[in-house]
Amino acid sequence: MTPTVTIIGAGPAGLTAAHLLRREGAEVTVLEQDPRYVGGISRTVEYKGFRFDIGGHRFFSKSQEVEDLWTELLGDDLLHRPRSSRIYYGGRFYSYPLKAGEALKNLGLVESARCVASYAWARLFPVPDPKSFEDWVSNQFGRRLFGIFFKTYTEKVWGMSCREISADWAAQRIKGLSLSKAIMAALLPKRAPKDRTQTIKTLIDTFRYPRKGPGMMWEAAADRTRA
Ligand SMILES: Cc1cc2nc3c(=O)[nH]c(=O)nc-3n(C[C@H](O)[C@H](O)[C@H](O)COP(=O)(O)OP(=O)(O)OC[C@H]3O[C@@H](n4cnc5c(N)ncnc54)[C@H](O)[C@@H]3O)c2cc1C
Repeated sequence: MTPTVTIIGAGPAGLTAAHLLRREGAEVTVLEQDPRYVGGISRTVEYKGFRFDIGGHRFFSKSQEVEDLWTELLGDDLLHRPRSSRIYYGGRFYSYPLKAGEALKNLGLVESARCVASYAWARLFPVPDPKSFEDWVSNQFGRRLFGIFFKTYTEKVWGMSCREISADWAAQRIKGLSLSKAIMAALLPKRAPKDRTQTIKTLIDTFRYPRKGPGMMWEAAADRTRA
């Protein structure tokens, strides 16, 4: 018997499931409420001949299986790109991941000293059992750096208060990154990681990106499933 599967939502999860199920020979129907686009919040929309990403998407996974699946879907259209992430704060740009020397220069000695003191305080007296994004990041970086580099940015991107975002989610997204590791990464010469799982997720300085934006990946997945 051929299994028949109905999937609700043509976002990355639905389309990846559809593609893999098709590969195993299942009959798949994907229901999508958007009349035009697939890709969910990872879609690329067209406006006056230009393509806009709903969110800037980097394609990087610690799982080789996931990387291989993306390569299978897009082949040469999945480009390697250098990463340039910067935070605009107080009229100045800060590289992200932070570069210790640059951050020190931009913040000035007094503010830098406050940040280091606040970080030391957080290490000595962490919020016990952190439940929110705010508590988790403050424990990792100190309250002052949380206010400067994380609070406004995160609230703008995700549209909710850092007190309402769970600590689990912060731990998963900023996993492995701490102020001391960020300073070490900025000061020490770069060494290739022994394997992908050792790479600190937010410190990656190149990533893969589809030639026409992230939506291209999901259009390709939908086309394969249709075919
Ligand atoms: C600003 C931003 C940046 C991001 N950057 C990255 C990144 O760099 N790298 C990365 O890997 N991830 C990134 N993400 C996360 C990534 O976009 C999501 O993890 C991913 O899109 C989740 O896929 P999903 O299929 O679970 O859900 P969604 O993308 O939300 O897709 C759900 C789909 O289901 C449809 N749907 C919902 N309800 C129904 C219904 N009742 N009937 C029919 N259809 C329905 C929706 O229309 C949508 O198409 C980012 C997200 C944002 C917002």
